[in-house]
Amino acid sequence: MSGTTYNPFKIAQEQFDNVAEILKLDSGICELLRQPMKEIHFTIPVKMDDGSTKVFKAFRIRHNDARGPAKGGIRFHPHETADTVRALSMWMTWKCAVVDIPLGGGKGGVICDPRNLSITEQERLCRGYIRQLANQLGPNLDVPAPDVMTNAQHMLWMLDEYETITGGRYPGMITGKPVGMGGSLGRTEATGFGVIYVLKTYLKEIGMPIAYTTASIQGFGNVAEYAARMYTELGGKVIAVSCWNQDDAKSYTFRKATGCNIEELAGIKDSFGNIDKAKALELGYELLPGEDWIKQDVDILIPAALENQITPDLIPELSPRVKIICEAANGPTTPDSDVLIRRREIMLLPDFLCNAGGVTCSYFEQVQCNMNYFWDKSEVLNKLEYSMTKAFHDVYKLALEKDLYMRDAAYVIAINRVADAVRLRGWV
Ligand code: GLU
Repeated sequence: MSGTTYNPFKIAQEQFDNVAEILKLDSGICELLRQPMKEIHFTIPVKMDDGSTKVFKAFRIRHNDARGPAKGGIRFHPHETADTVRALSMWMTWKCAVVDIPLGGGKGGVICDPRNLSITEQERLCRGYIRQLANQLGPNLDVPAPDVMTNAQHMLWMLDEYETITGGRYPGMITGKPVGMGGSLGRTEATGFGVIYVLKTYLKEIGMPIAYTTASIQGFGNVAEYAARMYTELGGKVIAVSCWNQDDAKSYTFRKATGCNIEELAGIKDSFGNIDKAKALELGYELLPGEDWIKQDVDILIPAALENQITPDLIPELSPRVKIICEAANGPTTPDSDVLIRRREIMLLPDFLCNAGGVTCSYFEQVQCNMNYFWDKSEVLNKLEYSMTKAFHDVYKLALEKDLYMRDAAYVIAINRVADAVRLRGWV
């Protein structure tokens, strides 16, 4: 583990500044885009099941809404910080812009560990979050969604609280809702599938059949699970999956050289992505230290957990076989690792392009809610694949033309689109 402390907001700003320099953006636009437009920091008192009251710190941060209402998930995590939410809100702006959907960037977070909260405590926390924020959210203002450790049920409690306060039905106020309650078919799968649509398109470009590739994945939450499912369905082999173990307070890598059975692993994980160690051993998986996921002799690494996971000290541990890093998480690679990855000529498929499938499907969910007419799953997934493939081609073409690192190419496209919107509105 690296001894350096990485601040995600500083990293997001550094990434922005580098590209602003390439684009020769004027100082007014830079000043506006390198920080959030609005921040709300608040507390949520929650009555616990034992009669006591706990107070949770929470955030909602709007980075930019020039291209449309702010959009982005709400994370529940014990290590959440204002700076993490700031960075994530900024990355949401670029994510929506790179896939060209008419939405801006926002993010929310609560410092809590839902693994230690009962269902009723989680419900009260969700409702409390909305009670404090109701006048700052809405289908045309700021639209939350699930993120790390939040799910469709949390979204529905939040919607119900919002509708109770406002006295109407506003299904477009939040996305990632349960199917049948305003949710879209395919939303659960969308982020993970979107990652693989991008990977698949790149592999096609370089003439590498996906069925001949192997991958190692960090994380086994929703995004990782569905990425692994789609990747193996297309013929790829997942050699290892790592995930956090709450009881032992450390992570483990589950490895099967002949290929992990994703259905089987999904069947022995809890709702937070924790794979049952004992059951995995019974099923013939090797149990390795958590960081070993990155040392596997595979073609593709898929970080699908949290930010700042690929640090420079780990780069020498990468097998010479690794050709692609496909970022499913937000901000998994630190900028000082980017330099080393580029030097090793590993293709980096950047986070806000790769994992934009979730928000793209959230946008489809809003469209369906507005029409009150819901598409079947194949229609949703076809539209999703089209959007992801197109976004990849736009970024890849620019990267080749201008000899840019893929992350920088994605930034050039996204920042240009947002800067245009800001100028057209006359804000600068
Ligand atoms: N939380 C997801 C993300 O980071 C989805 C956001 C959304 O659907 O609004 O992209």
